[in-house]
Amino acid sequence: CGIVGYIGQRNCSTLLLNALRGLEYRGYDSAGIAIIQNGQIFCHRVQGKLVVLEELLKREPLTGSIGIGHTRWATHGIPSEANAHPHVVDNIALVHNGIIENYSLLKNKLQKKGAKFLSQTDTEVIAHLVAFSLKETNDFVKAVYKAISQLKGSFALAMLCTKEPDKLIGVRCESPLIVGLAENENVLASDVPAILPYTKKVIFLNDGEIAILYKDKVEIRDFQGNQLPFHIKELPWSP
Ligand code: GLU
Repeated sequence: CGIVGYIGQRNCSTLLLNALRGLEYRGYDSAGIAIIQNGQIFCHRVQGKLVVLEELLKREPLTGSIGIGHTRWATHGIPSEANAHPHVVDNIALVHNGIIENYSLLKNKLQKKGAKFLSQTDTEVIAHLVAFSLKETNDFVKAVYKAISQLKGSFALAMLCTKEPDKLIGVRCESPLIVGLAENENVLASDVPAILPYTKKVIFLNDGEIAILYKDKVEIRDFQGNQLPFHIKELPWSP
């Protein structure tokens, strides 16, 4: 159960993999990454350890400068490739740590509207909610607000959208999430060890906060949409 995200200028698949390694101590049973490449989402998911994902990336490399990654500790649905994150629906890719308590209610509603589910996870409802709201609003940030207003439970999220590939969105509600700031690149992660090789400048998100990361700036908002001031912490250099 670890989340990472990257937006910037370099090809990020190796960085995402290494960042996930920094979160291995949290435990996991499957892993995956999704990257926007030529305006499309490409996603690799595996059951098992990060070396399995690494081998897959060697055989079938992904290139792109915006991406998200996940190590999963299954709570809803067995450890399997289909249940591994990221979950992709239409133009959206999403990773999640936590538990959506009202997922079966939401799943029923979404299925009635025609959503086709490909996994047994609680997480997949979030991807469908954002995708549906995106069709209504045509605005990634607004779609995320609409989706999360319906969720009950604990969630840290990282999301990307091919319609707006200039931004990465992170959400924190009772699961940890931090933002790392660097030169022309910014990162999201569950915890500090994931980002230490890249930056010492960190924003520790509070519960009920949304981070919108661009490659050269970051905005923090509350769940009502108000922009919030934020504090950048300088982590000490370790030997
Ligand atoms: N509840 C989600 C799942 O079972 C996320 C688990 C996690 O935090 O890794 O897929």
